[in-house]
Amino acid sequence: MHELSIATALAESLLDYSKEHKVKITCAHVKAGILSGIDPEALQFAWEPALENFPDSGLENCRLAIKMALLKHRCQNCGKEFEFDTWRMECPECGKESLHRESGNEFLLESIEVENV
Ligand SMILES: [Zn+2]
Repeated sequence: MHELSIATALAESLLDYSKEHKVKITCAHVKAGILSGIDPEALQFAWEPALENFPDSGLENCRLAIKMALLKHRCQNCGKEFEFDTWRMECPECGKESLHRESGNEFLLESIEVENV
C-alpha cells in the first residue's frame, strides 16, 4: 500500500528529528500537491498503523494534519501567479496560453508541533 510506505517514511524522519532535538512531536503538518498521487484519506488512515512500527518511540500520539495544495502556475507572459485545482494553460490576466505549472507533485513536511521532554 502506497500510503502506508509514505506514512512509515514520514514517521521515520519525525523520529530522527525528535531524537536529535530531544523533543516529543505531537503533530506533523504535511502538504501534498494534488498531482502527487497522495490520497489524503488513505494517508490519514495509514498513519496509525505506520506508528505501530515504532513502539515506545514517543510518537504514539503524534497526529498527522494533511493539507492538499493547489497547483501553482506562473504566466510566462505577464509574470502573474495563480493557483488552480487543475492544470490550465490560459492566463486569466493577459489571456495568453503561457501558464507554466510550478508545483503540484510535492509532498512536504511543513511544520511540526513539539513538546520538550
Ligand atoms: Zn499572463
